[in-house]
Amino acid sequence: MALNARLDHRNPLVFDTHELGRRPGALLRLTRTIDAPRDLGIAEVIGVPEGAPVELDLRLESVMEGVLVTGTARAQAEGECVRCLEPLGLELEADFQEMFSYPDADDRGRPKAEPADDAEEDEDRLFIEDGLFDLEPVLRDAVVLALPMQPVCQEDCPGLCTECGARLADDPDHHHDAVDIRWAALQGLAGSLGDGEKDEMSGAEAGVDEKQEK
Ligand SMILES: [Zn+2]
Ligand SMILES: [Zn+2]
Repeated sequence: MALNARLDHRNPLVFDTHELGRRPGALLRLTRTIDAPRDLGIAEVIGVPEGAPVELDLRLESVMEGVLVTGTARAQAEGECVRCLEPLGLELEADFQEMFSYPDADDRGRPKAEPADDAEEDEDRLFIEDGLFDLEPVLRDAVVLALPMQPVCQEDCPGLCTECGARLADDPDHHHDAVDIRWAALQGLAGSLGDGEKDEMSGAEAGVDEKQEK
């Protein structure tokens, strides 16, 4: 198992738990505004621009095996409408809760349940190192979950004209005259064909009538 590089307390997403003193039940509330790290969001769709402010509200609770972190991140996300490609902004509020375990308190108090599940869980577990923990992976997951996969500028965005790419929301009466003229010509043609068919049909009907009369 590869260990992460040592945590740096100067990293704004690294938090210090020393104040909790490993006393179960101890509580610490923190607020911190950080600059958004790179690629915070859903790549190519919507996300928080690098360096934009992200407001963090955290509640750190000391428990037997580590520190339970509950929090909310607020930021302004930017992306574009998947239908009309207009830029859009979104007030993002992402909630999260994560357990950071003491490395030396690894299995203490944990019921020995299904070994397969344990192995899987271990890979995803986050640890406290020298009293510090790194919130970044938790923040990333929470932001992605809180963002829409298919953002739209408005719920009923009509998208773009398939003929010319115009944004239909800006121009509800949008249409193309060239298409209308051709369509009218086709309708005229259909009309004259219809008249001919009608004549033939009545003739056929008359023939049938004659047969039945005999
Ligand atoms: Zn749109
Ligand atoms: Zn058009």
